[in-house]
Amino acid sequence: MAVKRDYYEVLGVSRSASIDDIKKAYRKLAMQFHPDRVEESKKKEAEEKFKEISEAYAVLSDPEKKRLYDQFGHEGIDSRFTTEDIFRNANFGDIFSNGFGSIFGDLFSDLGFDIFGTGGRRPHSSARQQRGRDLALDVEISLEQAFKGIEKEVSFSCNQVCPSCKGSGAAPGSKKIICPACKGSGVIYTSAGFIRLSQTCSSCGGEGKIITHPCPECGGRGFVRKRKKLTVKIPAGIKNGSSLRLRGEGENLGSGAGDLYVRVHIKKHSLFERDGDDIFSLQKIDLYTAVLGGRVEVSTLDGKVKMSIPEGTQPGAVFRLRGKGFPSLRRGTRGDQFVKVQVEIPKNLSSREKELFQQLSEIKNNPSFRERIKRAFR
Ligand SMILES: [Zn+2]
Ligand SMILES: [Zn+2]
Repeated sequence: MAVKRDYYEVLGVSRSASIDDIKKAYRKLAMQFHPDRVEESKKKEAEEKFKEISEAYAVLSDPEKKRLYDQFGHEGIDSRFTTEDIFRNANFGDIFSNGFGSIFGDLFSDLGFDIFGTGGRRPHSSARQQRGRDLALDVEISLEQAFKGIEKEVSFSCNQVCPSCKGSGAAPGSKKIICPACKGSGVIYTSAGFIRLSQTCSSCGGEGKIITHPCPECGGRGFVRKRKKLTVKIPAGIKNGSSLRLRGEGENLGSGAGDLYVRVHIKKHSLFERDGDDIFSLQKIDLYTAVLGGRVEVSTLDGKVKMSIPEGTQPGAVFRLRGKGFPSLRRGTRGDQFVKVQVEIPKNLSSREKELFQQLSEIKNNPSFRERIKRAFR
């Protein structure tokens, strides 16, 4: 995205401008750049411009956001608010009252903003006209399940289209009728002097139709709260804390379903520690294997494998088992397992064992003549 221009500069006002000056400046620019008022070839440009001035106004007309902007600049706003948040609380209705509200509401919702809060273009419209909300839920799986992938069943409550009226809100067998107040247009016109003003019809919420016999199951709302069960496919190699998006599995009030986000948490494992696609584990070996070398059995997420221990292995030495880590979601390769060796020192020796260790110690400290010659010329 292009670098944002200074909001005051965008509106062409000074930093000390009053709220009235800011409003006036915005209203003037909004009229000028309203995409419906420019010729077709300049529409795209005007839309961009309209978004830019509207964002500047949304921030500078809100005392709290203005204070943050004055103090920290764009950083102060962008680090705290999403674009939607910036617009959500801005008072555009105030600016575009007298019937302009609906025009601008439509425009904003075309641009992807919902400035009039719920329902966008129709502030009084019923819930049936909104896409359902996105929902989020958490699931916990084991490290083994994250390694292999798993189909996990989840269940949750959410608003769903009423099965009885299929979301219409009208009792089965009854029909919606044309709203008598607005005669189906969804808009009420009033006159003030020679200006004709339009307003959303409050009887039908702008829909143009009303329900005479509300559906008994949902009370005319068109949706009911229901428990929903789903099987979520969790891919092998998933990272702790990542979210899976299930399109259309969120809330549904009758005109489009929201999405469901499933956040996956991976339980701590008693043997394995995961870092990215690699696995870390500890392996105890006895003193004799450390000294003389040998093969030991090591647990991996794939099961047990044999690992070679070379002669003279030191405590704390780390060995790599290639390809025994997690599958990488992106590359299709696999990470490695790193095995750190702990050497167990024998305790409670028998007298025979003590004797043998004693002999070893003597060889080390009082080497034979042959041994001394060998070491000297090594
Ligand atoms: Zn119903
Ligand atoms: Zn009406």
